[in-house]
Amino acid sequence: MSAGAPKEFSDLVSRLESGGNITCRDCSEFLMAYLDSELGTDIRTRFEQHLDRCCSCRNYVESYRQTVQLAKEACCPKANPHLGKMPPELVSAILSSLGCPGGPKKP
Ligand SMILES: [Zn+2]
Repeated sequence: MSAGAPKEFSDLVSRLESGGNITCRDCSEFLMAYLDSELGTDIRTRFEQHLDRCCSCRNYVESYRQTVQLAKEACCPKANPHLGKMPPELVSAILSSLGCPGGPKKP
């Protein structure tokens, strides 16, 4: 687990260790950590088990992944022939939410 893990994350870990289940809410809260492979193997497995059973979380993860992918491409405009097709407001919203260096300056 990364040193900067939020308190909610350690709460989740201890809840799972005491036999609790991952909920849809956990999925949305820890999705970023899951996709960034910050979660330990045990937790990842639990996430994947939930995703296997839960169609709405699966769709959520999939659309989130695509958004992140688009944002990554937007960070490297040379490698991204589709950038011009995205609304600029969407690009800058994604970039600023990711704290991307290529994004608009933070206030
Ligand atoms: Zn779910």
